[in-house]
Amino acid sequence: LGGRITHAIHQMRNVTIIDEKALNECLNEITRALLQSDVSFALVKEMQTNIKKIVNLQDLAAGHNKRRIIEQAIFGELCKMLDPGKPAFAPKKAKPSVVMFVGLQGAGKTTTCTKYAYYHQRKGYKPALVCADTFRAGAFDQLKQNATKAKIPFYGSYTESDPVKIAVEGVDRFEKENCDLIIVDTSGRHKQEASLFEEMRQVAEATKPDLVIFVMDSSIGQAAFDQAQAFKQSVAVGAVIITKMDGHAKGGGALSAVAATKSPVIFIGTGEHMDQFEVFDVKPFVNRLLGMGDLSGLVDKLQEVVPKDQQAEIMEKISKGNFSMRMMYDQYQSVLSSGPLNQLYSMLPGVSAQMMPEGESEAKIKLYMTVMDSMTNEELDSSNLKAFNESRIMRIARGSGRIVREVMEMLEEYRKMAKRFSNLKRFKMPKNGDMSSN
Ligand code: GDP
Ligand code: MG
Repeated sequence: LGGRITHAIHQMRNVTIIDEKALNECLNEITRALLQSDVSFALVKEMQTNIKKIVNLQDLAAGHNKRRIIEQAIFGELCKMLDPGKPAFAPKKAKPSVVMFVGLQGAGKTTTCTKYAYYHQRKGYKPALVCADTFRAGAFDQLKQNATKAKIPFYGSYTESDPVKIAVEGVDRFEKENCDLIIVDTSGRHKQEASLFEEMRQVAEATKPDLVIFVMDSSIGQAAFDQAQAFKQSVAVGAVIITKMDGHAKGGGALSAVAATKSPVIFIGTGEHMDQFEVFDVKPFVNRLLGMGDLSGLVDKLQEVVPKDQQAEIMEKISKGNFSMRMMYDQYQSVLSSGPLNQLYSMLPGVSAQMMPEGESEAKIKLYMTVMDSMTNEELDSSNLKAFNESRIMRIARGSGRIVREVMEMLEEYRKMAKRFSNLKRFKMPKNGDMSSN
């Protein structure tokens, strides 16, 4: 996606006369890319119309900053679409609030309930968890396990089959115990069906939640709008949490969820663990959606995973787009060992998708590493592909016991990856996640 948008905008720059047709072509290309990121068709159309209103053709024709004008228009539109105009309900300490979680089965409700509770616990709240999922066998055990791990009080039953009854009992109990954040986990079904929505309506009616959070799996694609709307029609959804943002999905469905529920996204889930949970921040999210690389998030992650004395150097290299083969080698190594660097690189557009060690690609990674093992230090530290002439390639092939075609393939892979990194060059390191071109 990032590549396509960058390409589309780049093409625009090469056109000397910017007319309606050139702008349309550019926008169409961006439309296709956003659709691939699961942004809904209706929303993309809306964005297209708005951008045409904002982008003044005369400005484009006169100025040299075409790229910047278009980029900023798209960026601004997407940010606007993620802002429903009113903040979500925020629980207050020492005053009981009830927060109910809804969403389809597998969306990540139970996991996210605990993350949400844990997050607030660390901020000084007294959270508690209520399991009102009587549909799925093992639902209570799962919640119990999570809650125990996080040392959060919980309530549920192995025998009671009425979710409304359990929800009410749990809320009552924890109100008496002076908990200030009572979280009600509910059941889901694989499909959106009438009985599920009726159940949600009843649980909400009985527990009178201050906030209903719709939990959505980032990978559900174009189904996001209908799903979010269906929940909104039965309960007063007031916030959205997008889960599994650590996967391949760019999360364009978030725009649909916001549009359908008229509620803001408040958190994103970035892994199965309790602390893989982040406050939603519009700008880095849109940067990622557009494939521009979340450099501000990157800085934070770097601080976690890279020793302090190496951080500056790595950031400098990445921001300059000086991406050597050794850096690729190091990345491969960290991908293979599944270290936290995975998360780091998943923020860089286009990289993670190519680097995921799945099936054949893991074998490929190993193959490329074998080839690189036969390179000299000088070769590894260079980023100049022209230096790899025929005799050098032959030497590397012989040294690694591989054939010339495989060495060429590795070099091509490097070329592609270096190109993606150089696309980041244009962006200054933002302090606040802002997108700014050089
Ligand atoms: P529920 O049916 O909506 O309650 O969903 P669960 O909380 O049981 O989650 C379903 C699966 O998704 C579980 O295997 C979770 O570990 C996993 N999961 C939930 N959130 C995330 C996330 O942010 N990232 C990843 N990778 N997995 C998640
Ligand atoms: Mg569950």
